[in-house]
Amino acid sequence: MIKENLTTVQENIKMACQMAGKNEEEVTLVAVSKTKPIDLLMEAYECGCRHFGENKVQELVSKYEAMPKDIKWHMIGHLQRNKVKYIVDKVALIHSVDSLRLAEEISREAVKKDVEAAILIEVNVSQEDSKFGVSVDDSLSLIRQVSLLPNIQIKGLMTIAPYVENPEENKPYFEILRQLAVDISNKNIDNVSMNVLSMGMTGDYMVAIKEGATIVRVGTGIFGQRQYDV
Ligand SMILES: *Cc1c(COP(=O)(O)O)cnc(C)c1O
Repeated sequence: MIKENLTTVQENIKMACQMAGKNEEEVTLVAVSKTKPIDLLMEAYECGCRHFGENKVQELVSKYEAMPKDIKWHMIGHLQRNKVKYIVDKVALIHSVDSLRLAEEISREAVKKDVEAAILIEVNVSQEDSKFGVSVDDSLSLIRQVSLLPNIQIKGLMTIAPYVENPEENKPYFEILRQLAVDISNKNIDNVSMNVLSMGMTGDYMVAIKEGATIVRVGTGIFGQRQYDV
């Protein structure tokens, strides 16, 4: 089932890239594997997936230990400062940095472990689920402050759009994120590039690609519905 799902997602990505006039290599598919067992992840791996996204530190670390070492792990969920030390040298990209205090901790641990931490700034564009993400208005000043920290590199922006029936409804949010990246890029801040836009999930990744996504995070579309223990 995973093989068929992946083929469908990859074909859709290709189609969206064609419509957006971009090369499909410009878009990275992150397979969001949270809650899913290793054997399903390995199935995706055998089909060629090398980017996996997790939202919990402990789960990411145990999958990291169990799986092949050529995988790029993406931390996509809210990150607590006291858990940064477990993942800073294991992940390719942290998508969910939304405060100076968190960035300072990432920087501190990256210095300690002698690694460069690549991060995205999570922006709460829709303001719907207002729990995580910096506001559009506060993002530039946060980025200026984070850019001064050692061993941390800002690669771009990430957002989580609301769940909607019609994916076109999220188009304005993706446009805002892309425009914000352009504006920030024009400031030419040291240690900051705005090449990565992580936006789009199962319901709306084609729209996101058309609006400039370079990373799409797809879970359900690859692995099927998630079951959460209650
Ligand atoms: C779970 C999750 C996804 C994937 O969601 P699907 O709708 O299953 O594709 C993407 N991004 C983040 C941050 C997530 O937590």
